Amino acid sequence: MELPALYLKRNEDARLRAGHLWVFSNEVDVARSPLGAFEPGQAVAIVDYRDKPIGVGYVNPNSLIAARLVSRGLDHALDRSLIVHRLNIALALREQLYPQPYYRLVYGESDGLPGLVLDRFGDVVVGQIATAGMERLKDAITDAVVKVLKPRQLWWKNDSSIRTMEQLPEYADLGHGEYGGEVVAREGDLEFVIDPVGGQKTGWFYDQRENRDQLARLVKGKRVLDMFSYLGGWGLRAAAYGASEVVCVDASAAAVEATQRNAERNGLAERVTAIRADAFDHLKALREARERYDVVILDPPAFIKRKKDFKEGSLAYRRLAELGMQVLSKDGILVTCSCSHHMPRAALLDGVQQGARHLDRQVQMLVSLQQGPDHPVHPAIPETDYLKGYVLRVLPA
Ligand code: SAH
Repeated sequence: MELPALYLKRNEDARLRAGHLWVFSNEVDVARSPLGAFEPGQAVAIVDYRDKPIGVGYVNPNSLIAARLVSRGLDHALDRSLIVHRLNIALALREQLYPQPYYRLVYGESDGLPGLVLDRFGDVVVGQIATAGMERLKDAITDAVVKVLKPRQLWWKNDSSIRTMEQLPEYADLGHGEYGGEVVAREGDLEFVIDPVGGQKTGWFYDQRENRDQLARLVKGKRVLDMFSYLGGWGLRAAAYGASEVVCVDASAAAVEATQRNAERNGLAERVTAIRADAFDHLKALREARERYDVVILDPPAFIKRKKDFKEGSLAYRRLAELGMQVLSKDGILVTCSCSHHMPRAALLDGVQQGARHLDRQVQMLVSLQQGPDHPVHPAIPETDYLKGYVLRVLPA
């Protein structure tokens, strides 16, 4: 296989040899292989300064991440056959983990397909492409998905803002199959109708499934408040586990309506209310009204999107936790989460503890939460480990 070479500078092969898959633009020997000479997404042989090949990857001349390694050695081309192979390996894990075909099937770098996410909703697949290299392979990916899964539909939800860094257009549309029919996520014994075009990310957050399972032993007969509820993942699971009353709060009118419909669909509407409100405003109003809940769940969007937002973002997590504690009953349960890679696990707990001291409360950390195993962490790529959270008991001091 003849591929153009992307040469690394001296010693810049160490991270790749340690298992990472990214080449940053300042690590490329641009005298030997000028980045401007490559097409966005073009397949390359990544070669060290001693001319030893490391593997096959794809390049993006316009991005800080100038190349991503897809395969070690030069035996495998970046084509449909490699994608089919990787899909089958990814599928084997998920089929072992889950009795039903509802899961994240491909989690980018961790599944050997950098820049690609595929979520499976029974006979529907929703994909997200983040890089020019994967965009170039879109037809091959579509063919591979059709070959391996024979889905009714494959949707592309390619509207993430990171695509602009790769100079890719943002769009969401059907990539295979016919329009029509509903798309349903199953979790626990519940069904959630999702919107692969207008929803958040792929339409559903499978990453919290195992964390929501924790509710089973926490919510029976309790009043539960689900903040940033989206389609009611946490709240409806709580209602199904026997919560006496559940309130879901989200700023999006579409999410609130969908939550109500999902509650009805699952026979939980009597115990579930969905409210459209800003989470911070709503918590303040509840505090003023001296409303109390036994279990408060805080699962917000990422407050820290870039490293430089850490200070402001971590303060927002702490403020939110304090507000949550202020609407908890005396011996209550607080679930707090962060999906920001840039928010360290320990910092999230520190914020809760500081908030607790400020309010003169005592906190016991019961369970530490992480993304589910259909989002496997790549140990050499810290960026793949993003979701963290805690189940906490909050007592008077
Ligand atoms: N907890 C959800 C996922 C949350 S995604 C789940 O388990 O599936 C983040 C959600 O927060 C989105 O639905 C978004 O509409 C909502 N949101 C963002 N900012 C908000 C705010 N200030 N107040 C309330 N909801 C907000």
